[in-house]
Amino acid sequence: MNKVVMLCAICNVSSGNCAEDCAYCTQSAHVKADITKFKKKELEQILLEAKMARANHALGFCLVTSGRSLDDKKLDFICETAKMLQKETPELMLIACNGSASYESLKELKKAGVFSYNHNLETSREYFPKICSTHTWDERYETNLNAKKAGLELCCGGIYGLGESEADRVSFRSSLRELEPFTSPVNFFIPNPALKIKEPKLSVDEALKILNDTAKALPNTRIMVAGGREVVLGDRQYEILQNGASAIVVGDYLTTSGEVASKDIEALRQRGFEFASKCH
Ligand code: SF4
Repeated sequence: MNKVVMLCAICNVSSGNCAEDCAYCTQSAHVKADITKFKKKELEQILLEAKMARANHALGFCLVTSGRSLDDKKLDFICETAKMLQKETPELMLIACNGSASYESLKELKKAGVFSYNHNLETSREYFPKICSTHTWDERYETNLNAKKAGLELCCGGIYGLGESEADRVSFRSSLRELEPFTSPVNFFIPNPALKIKEPKLSVDEALKILNDTAKALPNTRIMVAGGREVVLGDRQYEILQNGASAIVVGDYLTTSGEVASKDIEALRQRGFEFASKCH
């Protein structure tokens, strides 16, 4: 077994008030979820979080904004942030996650020092209209093609446990396989009373099977477990590393709390894991 795990931290640069209606997302303005909302995080705060991520052995640092797409204002801010972080925390690999984006904007991100673009397909093309009516799965797919064309490493995955069928899961993974992402994040749906989706959380065995199936479908991709790790897998969460995953998100997620990073680090060390110090 490979005993190296890659850690990635998420920085929520803007949160909530999104006009889209993705049924699994508490940042959608269509639901009244109890989350912290803000337009733009201060650069000083982002830098503080980046330094903390590095101190927690994270190699990846993902700048996430809510909303459908990467408009000019967001693009300027993410580029400015990326340039600052490159100077201040050069060991971090920067990932941007800012919604649908044009080839030209993605090229700007690349120029500013962003390493990878994250835009999830979320689920199968067939199931997507059941969970979102304000934009299409094809728009998401196209952004992924744009990111690759712009020379960014692709980070593309999705979320399980939304009521999708096994056939949807197979179809979703086959689309991911076409895109050949560098990293594929796997999220497990966390039930929330404010959301329309009323599916119970997945069982641990089902979640581990999803990881194994994803790793088999994407043999050249790093599988990263993101949201839902603690809630869905509980005490068995580190079994993900024997079931296809080789990367995890540490610290808080966008709108839900994660494990305290130091707890993860200690638990991983106890199990004999080292932390990746380079991406390739
Ligand atoms: S997933 Fe993204 S686009 Fe969809 S509601 Fe949430 S923030 Fe908006």
